[in-house]
Amino acid sequence: MQHVVEFGLQVLQRDLATNEVCSVRCQFCNYIGKEDTIGEKRKRGQIKTKKDWKPPFRTSNYRLHHEGQHSGTWATYQKLDYEAKKMFFDNKCKHKDTIDGHFGLSKKKHVIHYIDASIVDKIIGDMFFHPDTQDGISHTTAMKLFKPDDAGNMYTVTIKNLMQFRLIVCWLSRGVSFRQAADMLMDAKQVTENAELGSINDTGVSNYARVVCAINLGKLSAILNHDSAWAFSLANDLSTHQGKSYLDNHIHFHRDGVIYNIHVLAIPMYDRHTGENMFKLVSDVFDVVCPTWRTKLISMGSDSAASMVGEYQGIVTRVEQQVSHQLNFLIIGSSSALSYLVWPSST
Ligand SMILES: [Zn+2]
Repeated sequence: MQHVVEFGLQVLQRDLATNEVCSVRCQFCNYIGKEDTIGEKRKRGQIKTKKDWKPPFRTSNYRLHHEGQHSGTWATYQKLDYEAKKMFFDNKCKHKDTIDGHFGLSKKKHVIHYIDASIVDKIIGDMFFHPDTQDGISHTTAMKLFKPDDAGNMYTVTIKNLMQFRLIVCWLSRGVSFRQAADMLMDAKQVTENAELGSINDTGVSNYARVVCAINLGKLSAILNHDSAWAFSLANDLSTHQGKSYLDNHIHFHRDGVIYNIHVLAIPMYDRHTGENMFKLVSDVFDVVCPTWRTKLISMGSDSAASMVGEYQGIVTRVEQQVSHQLNFLIIGSSSALSYLVWPSST
């Protein structure tokens, strides 16, 4: 059949007697999957069907399907010569075997995220900046990323180059610096010859870091505020990076049968490292992320670093005064690690 290569088809069945083609399948469905169109909401558990055709075979039907479902890849494919078309699907991983196929990550080029206004205003806008620089240019630039909606209780962030954003976020999560991430994108673009990766400078990378932080806090907030999340625990630690102090926050929570241990935030500390100040940072964050934290927090912990032991007791004592249930205070100690756990009383 002459259109097999031209339209990226695969012969599924032939008549045993006549060797005539009885059905063909769309290879783009097989290997690439459906492309999302901008603005279209991805449905959960979207049905993953592959398009097959039976006689009478009509080229107009293939074209209609390809243009509707695989517009981007189809446009690229049409420009290839016959030999390149024949090889196009070689060595490609089947769509159902890819992460996108399983988790429905979107292929669309731009994505809009909606973020609670209090997360952006209080955490991203206030806590991440030294009080003296709140009116500075970097503050203004950072806040420009977030566009308020009409009602004023949400912000939107538009990620214009999704592939670039996802790569940068992957690299940041592995601990590279903003400048390194910007350089690595340039390398990736050169090596892969993929112009779609675009370009970025270190300010752009730091903006991505702010955005992903806001998005993640929004997601964490949704998880913690859900009725099924009845309890969580916190672990805090002081850390220093390039002469600046941070209060590191980890959280444990349970969801869908799994106990997660995730890093929430490294909150910059501009005040003295007293228990009072550390408590204020933790409670400021959780007042925004989960306003009912006082009824849900069941334990707090830290390591035995000298800086934490004395002061941390101060935080735990303050939290104890604030949480709604009666608490038992338990200290677990070893030579190398000491943690304070606060459990709700069984009485
Ligand atoms: Zn298809």
